[in-house]
Amino acid sequence: MNRILVTGGAGFLGSHLCERLLALGADVICVDNFFTGSKQNIRHLLGNPNFELLRHDVTLPLYIEVDRIFNLACPASPIYYQHDPVQTTKTSVHGAINVLGLAKRVKARILQASTSEVYGDPEVHPQVESYWGRVNPIGIRSCYDEGKRCAETLFFDYWRQSALEIKVVRIFNTYGPRMQPDDGRVVSNFIVQALKGEPITLYGDGTQTRSFCYVDDLIEGILKMMNSPKDFIGPVNLGNPGEFSMLELAEKVIRFTKSKSKLVFLPLPEDDPKQRQPDIALAKEKLAWEPRVSLDDGLKLTIDYFSRTL
Ligand code: NAD
Ligand code: UDP
Repeated sequence: MNRILVTGGAGFLGSHLCERLLALGADVICVDNFFTGSKQNIRHLLGNPNFELLRHDVTLPLYIEVDRIFNLACPASPIYYQHDPVQTTKTSVHGAINVLGLAKRVKARILQASTSEVYGDPEVHPQVESYWGRVNPIGIRSCYDEGKRCAETLFFDYWRQSALEIKVVRIFNTYGPRMQPDDGRVVSNFIVQALKGEPITLYGDGTQTRSFCYVDDLIEGILKMMNSPKDFIGPVNLGNPGEFSMLELAEKVIRFTKSKSKLVFLPLPEDDPKQRQPDIALAKEKLAWEPRVSLDDGLKLTIDYFSRTL
């Protein structure tokens, strides 16, 4: 491990990944256009001589010399990826073509941050990697879901066509410090609302489920995947199998923050998946990885962070 490119490195997951890579002694190049990421996320890394920051949009080609690439660039929150859906698709698809082209030229191993969204609103529960998914190709989430699906296609085609060393991880809902307070994803929304004493916004009746992974666990899984043997290319699910309804999540957040916030019920967004839970048997077998941080502990750490920074 020496020169490592992290696209989307100033984002929530990217900043934690850059931090871990630097701690492991790597030279890290962080590429970001700051659409949803921020300099604040990586300010503490800027003085490190092994850290370089490049403002760049991955929809444009990039010519640098690196040994490994983690491709994380893409807004992950529905409100942000739906803000400019065409740019979201371009980021996933043109972005993948550009970083794969770079990997091919410099013979770098490359990892794609894919998503549980490739399973869409799933009929198979929990979701296994062999399930092809149920995605609406023309809905408001499609720019993200289909963009990420096409990126997976590109990764596998570069692997078949050009023998590139690829790795694909399908990340399930991950939360933790450095999510933006206005990010719009459920964990940060509920915590910020509870701390401010504002109503907790439940979409639909709150019975839809998600499985939440604490960021440190996820980063560990990503690193294990990147360092796994060449012939294990994925896709592999990374997430915490604990499954909770949004009502259960809201109740936990209210309890842990001792908030007086009340619940309000708002319309369920179009195509919002009803259930989501990763089957992580493959990650356990191939990577000897499983999450360690419970939702209760992870929420308390995240609440601490927002209490200090809001
Ligand atoms: P994030 O929005 O905090 O980070 C994404 C980063 O990519 C931001 O810094 C943003 O500015 C940058 N970016 C966006 N478009 C870009 C472009 N065209 N060029 C360069 N940089 C660009 O989101 P995150 O939660 O850190 O997610 C990181 C990656 O992990 C994303 O690819 C996301 O799809 C994937 N993922 C995350 C989750 C999760 O729960 N956090 C779940 C599944 C998949
Ligand atoms: N959600 C909610 N209130 C919010 C934000 C989200 O009830 O303020 C719900 C949303 O409808 C979805 C779940 O929480 O069912 C997770 O939403 P998020 O945007 O975090 O992630 P994703 O839907 O991409 O899994």
